[in-house]
Amino acid sequence: AIEIRDLHKSFGDNEVLKGIDLLVRPGEVVCVVGPSGSGKSTLLRTVNLLEQPTSGSIRIEGTDILDEDVDIDRIRTRIGMVFQQFNLFPHMTVLRNLTVAQERVLRRPKKESQEVARAMLERVGLAEKATDHPGHLSGGQQQRVAIARSLCMNPDMMLFDEPTSALDPELVGEVLEVMQDLASSGMTMMVVTHEMGFAREVGDRLIFMDDGVIVEEGDPAEVLANPRHQRTQAFLSKVL
Ligand code: ATP
Ligand code: MG
Repeated sequence: AIEIRDLHKSFGDNEVLKGIDLLVRPGEVVCVVGPSGSGKSTLLRTVNLLEQPTSGSIRIEGTDILDEDVDIDRIRTRIGMVFQQFNLFPHMTVLRNLTVAQERVLRRPKKESQEVARAMLERVGLAEKATDHPGHLSGGQQQRVAIARSLCMNPDMMLFDEPTSALDPELVGEVLEVMQDLASSGMTMMVVTHEMGFAREVGDRLIFMDDGVIVEEGDPAEVLANPRHQRTQAFLSKVL
């Protein structure tokens, strides 16, 4: 579980998160939507400490990750993160992209790393691409490789920051399908997305953020059909 309490984050005098309270239960899929600049990426980035919060608390599986004594690198291996840009290593094969962190961070033997990598490639439907370089793959395939790479680390939860926003429309579906499979397998997920269909079908909860606060949350179908707050209504009327 992820437990976020009264989380604040400022960049200089720009307060970007203004007191976020959020509990993500094991196996839950929480979709986060909201206008540009509302703090969605900053929220995800504080959860795996790519950003240091200004105040508040974040507990992952009961561990306070802001405690000075906590091993941040260890926490980060438990939380997979997938970005809009796939950030694959262009000079390495797909297989090597999937084994390098297993070997260096988890100290897994090479052979075992390769076995895990092949199993994860299989899972995202790209077993036959193991020896290709990322540049030879479509954007959708590269993003599926990026997801497989995260899964190789055996994360307890996965954070997705607009994973399909950089893709041509015809490639979005294959990535969402992989994410849906992952959700069905019981993975705990936080997903920042503009894909309202995904939020409705796969999300257990929808969160609407605006100006650094959670304005509204609830069952995705319910929030999408009957947004209670004027700001949610205004946002949804633009994107739906
Ligand atoms: P988008 O939908 O465009 O991705 P977002 O909801 O993800 O927007 P954030 O990226 O979290 O929004 O940004 C929220 C605010 O924080 C913005 O005003 C942004 O300029 C500011 N911000 C984000 N990262 C930094 C940073 N590293 N330094 C300074 N300001 C930042
Ligand atoms: Mg963002």
